[in-house]
Amino acid sequence: MDVRGSWERTARGAMLLGDDGRLRPTIFAEMSALATATGAINLGQGFPDEDGPAEVLEAARQAISDGLNQYPPGRGLPVLRTAIAEHQERFYGIRVDPDRDVLVTAGATEALAATVLALTDEGDHVVTFEPFYDAYAAVTALARAELITVPLRSPGFSPDLDALRDAVTDRTRIILVNSPHNPTGSVLDREALELIVELAHEHDAVIVTDEVYEHLTFGVEHIPIASLPGAAERTITISSGGKTFSTTGWKVGWLVAPPHLLEPVLAVKQYLTYVNAAAFQPAIAAGLRLPDRYFESAADALRRKRDILSSGLSAAGFAVGAPDAGYFVIADAAPLGAEDAAAFCRSLPELAGVVAVPVTAFVRDENRAHYASLVRFAFCKREDVLDRAAAQLASLPR
Ligand SMILES: *Cc1c(COP(=O)(O)O)cnc(C)c1O
Repeated sequence: MDVRGSWERTARGAMLLGDDGRLRPTIFAEMSALATATGAINLGQGFPDEDGPAEVLEAARQAISDGLNQYPPGRGLPVLRTAIAEHQERFYGIRVDPDRDVLVTAGATEALAATVLALTDEGDHVVTFEPFYDAYAAVTALARAELITVPLRSPGFSPDLDALRDAVTDRTRIILVNSPHNPTGSVLDREALELIVELAHEHDAVIVTDEVYEHLTFGVEHIPIASLPGAAERTITISSGGKTFSTTGWKVGWLVAPPHLLEPVLAVKQYLTYVNAAAFQPAIAAGLRLPDRYFESAADALRRKRDILSSGLSAAGFAVGAPDAGYFVIADAAPLGAEDAAAFCRSLPELAGVVAVPVTAFVRDENRAHYASLVRFAFCKREDVLDRAAAQLASLPR
């Protein structure tokens, strides 16, 4: 039986097909396997190695004891939808109705997938910045839509606004924004956000914004695009508890959107997972209700981690930027004589006992040359682990 065909387009869109036409493991799987095999420090995948706030963990245990172990409502438990609505008002002054404008999802990933599947037809354009979070290419290909990319170039990784203007046309169905951004750690400023809103109006596009790092910024302001004039009515705001509360394995995400956008997404979401994570939903609600000082200290702790790893990387000879947010720092290996970051990352466990991923994993094949020597390192790890990684990287030949 020939089962190739439709999946092939998806796999190619998701950049999962090798030159031999076979499915290849994602770079994350390959690099994590390498970390396990060599005992190297895994700064490849972005997950924290410490638990999040005790209150949040305890609330999940309590919910299981209380018997919250069956299917929750399709839109999510009221306690979490209310906490999400309160969070939007408390941090951003955005007022939403928890019963009509909020949908709980299986992580930000399901919110993204259901949104793209619900809102695009074959051939529609999804415009996003490149490099991009790997799921964007995959879900766009699943939907048979076309991903159009606008470059973010080092240093600084700010967007080329003229290129953005050119990229958005009447074929654009979705402008997919990710700020704070993975993998670059850049944060879009008001000017860029205003242009996105203007272009969305001009071409009747929907703005989809992935804000999973909304609380993890280092001294710069995160502006939710839905807070700009004229934006909320055409914006789907996606976030998740995973990054904010160091609970990436719980997969509690959500989206906030007006009903005319939310309902088509709910219709798709219903047949992807239907619902998930009953006992974790009240726990994330408890997290969203933590006092301001929790959110400040989480960002401060991460900023210290960024600084430890960044100074280690520059001492080792990399050219390093200063990410404004998120879990990752991008380092240029060219000063170390490494022009091919993918090959460099394969040898890094051997050379320094550290695993990282090449930025080309977040870039389409035709644009790889612009990012060829760039490496993404995760700093969401214990300080002693980062100190050790920095010491080991210092021994790299140069
Ligand atoms: C981690 C991450 C996600 C996935 O979030 P989940 O809640 O784990 O599904 C989505 N977007 C970006 C940019 C991320 O870094």
